[in-house]
Amino acid sequence: MERLQIANLPTPIHKIERLSQELGVNLYLKRDDFTGTEVSGNKVRKLEFSVAEALRQGCDTLITAGGIQSNHCRATAAVAAKLGLVCDLVIRGEIPNQIEGNLFIDHALGARAHLITPDESREAKMEEVVKNLKTEGHKPYVIPVGASNAIGSLGYAAAMEEIIQHENELGIYFDRVVIAVGSGGTYAGLWYANQQQATKRKILGYAVDHNTETFVEVIKDILKEMYQNDGLKVPKECKDIFINDQYIGVGYAKSTSEELEFIMKMSRENGFLLDPVYTGKGFYGMVSDIQKGKFQGAKNILFIHTGGLLGWTQEHREMALKTL
Ligand SMILES: *Cc1c(COP(=O)(O)O)cnc(C)c1O
Repeated sequence: MERLQIANLPTPIHKIERLSQELGVNLYLKRDDFTGTEVSGNKVRKLEFSVAEALRQGCDTLITAGGIQSNHCRATAAVAAKLGLVCDLVIRGEIPNQIEGNLFIDHALGARAHLITPDESREAKMEEVVKNLKTEGHKPYVIPVGASNAIGSLGYAAAMEEIIQHENELGIYFDRVVIAVGSGGTYAGLWYANQQQATKRKILGYAVDHNTETFVEVIKDILKEMYQNDGLKVPKECKDIFINDQYIGVGYAKSTSEELEFIMKMSRENGFLLDPVYTGKGFYGMVSDIQKGKFQGAKNILFIHTGGLLGWTQEHREMALKTL
């Protein structure tokens, strides 16, 4: 599969010294929030494959969808601007009072944002946008939400290989690789590449939306297509898909003051900032489970910081400051 080179790779892996001591484990952070500035986070790894495919098909326009503070939409807008492609974004959510964070950057990068309310259908709007683009003479390429299909997920199969290379250099083995799960592609890619290794490593996902059952199905569907694209036999059952849905809290992109207090504590005690929508919930879930003894037998744990810092909204910031 062809791939563009846009992300700043390989991303570094840091040991979180102080927290490791406190928890009695070796906890490491892979800085996928360092993949770039405008393209920051995990989506650019997937877009390296999705957009390569768009170019291969001769498309001149990228269309994708997401929420108001979608990191995926912003990264897509950045890749499009870099390559001189048109970018149309279908953005669904409560129309915000302020144009801030990712939504501002979407505009700065020249993407055309089509805002729709939660009562409107995303699919219908996407279809309408595609139709209009074709009438204008464009050749659009539709990237699914989060670029979470078999093509995009290859970005995280490649990231797993990057992790293995790092292990060899560091002389270390990560028993667990932990991430936040929003649309499933990051998890699917890591799982796929890990499965080709003869190791006992587990990939653990913390859902920030939907339940375990839903995600296991979504991930299995992506995996099935990945096996097929590689001309491999699809395993009868994809076992060992671990998705924890106990730390979603009050809902997608909504924070509790407990979560925000935790994020602020991590920042001041360890010197790194998590985002409130994905990594904050995932990291909170992981640390809580380590404290509950659910990581027994795991010596080295790697959490992937998948980015999202541009998604801190005024509301999150105000709530977080109140916890101090
Ligand atoms: C999209 C996103 C995730 C989740 O990745 P999926 O592949 O959608 O499951 C995690 N963290 C951040 C910051 C994201 O933007």
